[in-house]
Amino acid sequence: MAENKNFSVYNVGSFAELADKEIDGAKGRIMLGHLLGLTGCEISINSRKAGEAVPFVHHHKMNEEVYMILSGSGIFHIDGEEFPVGEGDMIRVAPAGMRSIKAIEPLVYVCIQAHDGSLAQATQLDGVITKDKTSWM
Ligand code: ZN
Repeated sequence: MAENKNFSVYNVGSFAELADKEIDGAKGRIMLGHLLGLTGCEISINSRKAGEAVPFVHHHKMNEEVYMILSGSGIFHIDGEEFPVGEGDMIRVAPAGMRSIKAIEPLVYVCIQAHDGSLAQATQLDGVITKDKTSWM
């Protein structure tokens, strides 16, 4: 992590290889918070082999989660309801939602966790266009 810059970069490597790795006691999952120095949310990158599942149902005390399915297919469980998920599905779960996920095919997804109700403004209102130029402008 570059402490003195306005950005940080980390490469999680191959998603297929991530499915075999155990990091901080979790198989197939890497948390980016400490790797990127995140301060407003936590993001995990998850890669599960066909048939693998999160081995528990959980909810959160104060954070909502957004699951972004990047590839593969699986089953999502929320509050006793189960439905199929696949590439392109975006699922928001409120803190109280009792959730779990299982891969049917190899499944890659991102989970973003942020304090429920904390977003004070949307990106379009927060972004400020500058006069800086890039090499392609
Ligand atoms: Zn969670």
